[in-house]
Amino acid sequence: MLDRLEAQGIRNRPVLQAVESVPREVFVDEVQSVRAYEDCSLPIGQGQTLSQPYIVARMTELVMGGETRLNRVLEVGTGSGYQAAVLAQLCQTVFTVERIGAFLEQARRRHRQLGLLNIRYMHRDGFKGWPSQAPYDGIVVTAAPDAVPPELKQQLAVGGRLVIPVGAQGGGQKLTVITRLAGNEYQTRWYDLVTFVPLLPGELV
Ligand code: SAH
Repeated sequence: MLDRLEAQGIRNRPVLQAVESVPREVFVDEVQSVRAYEDCSLPIGQGQTLSQPYIVARMTELVMGGETRLNRVLEVGTGSGYQAAVLAQLCQTVFTVERIGAFLEQARRRHRQLGLLNIRYMHRDGFKGWPSQAPYDGIVVTAAPDAVPPELKQQLAVGGRLVIPVGAQGGGQKLTVITRLAGNEYQTRWYDLVTFVPLLPGELV
């Protein structure tokens, strides 16, 4: 999988090492586990999907922005817990928010099983982020809104990056990186065309 990621353009060593150190099969159902290292997204239940390894690595690389370690990172959309586990290799603390309670508990168990102790969990609608723990050096959103939620931008530290797929369902979504340059000054850049499940409002058990 690592050779493939390098061939696909992932160059950041710490990111490749982080991907290497997280066993992806722990984060998918047993029936899917034979496909855990294939270059594809996988169903994780409740109509949700774990992104293909390239997209996880790409989003991680973009949020790192060339740095080797970050202090505080927020993830919106815990899902299987895989992306959070990769981020946990590269960050002091990962804060992860999920609207489906059952996913959060399952991710917590998986992380504990792997001895990952630097992840904090919150069951809530992530449109509004996790303001009490802000500011963040990075925010990774793993479901797509039609437009960037302003609350997420506001929770970035100066110099921090928000990595988010933006666009309507069925249309092309663009992997977008918003960097907070100063107080109310942001820079926006667009990267890969992607397909994510929608960022949905409200909470479910
Ligand atoms: N990062 C996940 C990908 C999961 S798919 C992984 O590594 O497996 C996207 C996830 O975002 C789903 O679990 C979905 O329930 C969640 N989600 C969608 N809208 C959300 C919202 N408003 N707040 C928090 N989580 C949300």
